[in-house]
Amino acid sequence: MSGADGRLLARAPGKVNLSLLLGPRRADGYHALASVVEAVSLADEVRLAPAPAGTAEDQVVCPGVEGENLAARALAAYRQATGWRGPPLRLEIDKRIPVAAGMGGGSADAAAALRLAASAAGRPIERLDTADRAALDAVAFGLGADVPALLAPGLVAMEGAGERVRPLAPAPAHGILVLPSPHHLATAEVFAEADRRRLARDADELEAGHADVLAALAGGVLPPPELLVNDLQSAAAALCPPIEATLRTVLSAGADHAMLSGSGPTVFGLFLGGDGPDRAAAAATTLVRLEPAPVACVPVDAGWAAPRPATETPA
Ligand code: ATP
Repeated sequence: MSGADGRLLARAPGKVNLSLLLGPRRADGYHALASVVEAVSLADEVRLAPAPAGTAEDQVVCPGVEGENLAARALAAYRQATGWRGPPLRLEIDKRIPVAAGMGGGSADAAAALRLAASAAGRPIERLDTADRAALDAVAFGLGADVPALLAPGLVAMEGAGERVRPLAPAPAHGILVLPSPHHLATAEVFAEADRRRLARDADELEAGHADVLAALAGGVLPPPELLVNDLQSAAAALCPPIEATLRTVLSAGADHAMLSGSGPTVFGLFLGGDGPDRAAAAATTLVRLEPAPVACVPVDAGWAAPRPATETPA
C-alpha cells in the first residue's frame, strides 16, 4: 500500500452526530453514550512521509493547532501496541475541520494517523483479522472516545463510552450544512453542564431511544425529527447562547432539521432527499456572509478516507 517513496495520504473526515443520547456516568468516570456518528466530507488531509534524515523520532506538523497533537499520540500508541519499529515518520496535517467544535477534528486526525501507520507497517486496517482489529479499536479508544468511530469512517453506531462501534448501512441521500462557530467549547465543560442540569437518561431510556434510531435507519429512512436528538444541546446552548440563533438560521436557510454536533458549538442542518446536497450548497451560498462561512458537505465512507500513495489524487 505504501507509495514507492513511502509517502501516503489519507483524508480525515470530521463527524456530526445524527443522534447523541447521554446516559449515566459510569464507574470509570466516562458517561454512557449512544450515538449515530456520520462521517462527512468536511475533512482534514493527513500526509505521511519518512522523517527527514537525521531525525530520530516521529514528527507531526499541524499548523493552527498548538500543543501536543493527538495524531502524534496516535503514532506513538500504534508503535507501542504493535511493536512496529519502522523508521521515523513525519505527518503533515492540513486542518479544515473546525477546532474544539464538536466535529471530532483531533479524533479524526488520530484515526487517520492510525490508518496511515497501519498501512506504512504493511498491515492496512481493512485486512486485519478480528482480534487485531479489536486491539486497534482499543488503541483508538485510549486516544479519545470519538477515535474508534472514525477509524473506518462512515455511518457508525457508537455505544458504551465510545469503545463499542459498528458500521451501519449508509443513510438515505441527504446533504449537510455545517455552521462553524466563532466560539469554542471544551467538551468536558459541556458534560459538566449536562450533569448540573441532570440531562442524563437512565440506562433503559438510553437503550430504548437508541434502538428507535437504529430501527428507523434499518428501515431505510432517516429517523424522524423527534429522534434526531442531541442530549448535550441545551447544556451547550446554556454555555454558548448564540447556538440557539444559529439553529434558527440554518432552518430559515431551508434545512429540514437543525441540531448541535457533538458537544458543540458547531451546528448543522440536514437537507433530506436526493436534491439535499444541492440544497445544502445553495443554502451555504445564501449564508456566505456568516463568519466563519458555512460549509456544505455530504456523508462519506471508509473508502473515501483510506490511505493511498501520496502521488494519487483522491477520487
Ligand atoms: P470532540 O468532538 O471529539 O469532543 P472537538 O471537535 O470538540 O472534539 P477537537 O477539534 O478534536 O475538538 O480539539 C480539541 C482539542 O484537542 C483542541 O483544543 C486542541 O488543542 C487539541 N488537539 C490536539 N490535536 C489536535 C488535532 N490534530 N486537531 C485539532 N485539535 C487537536
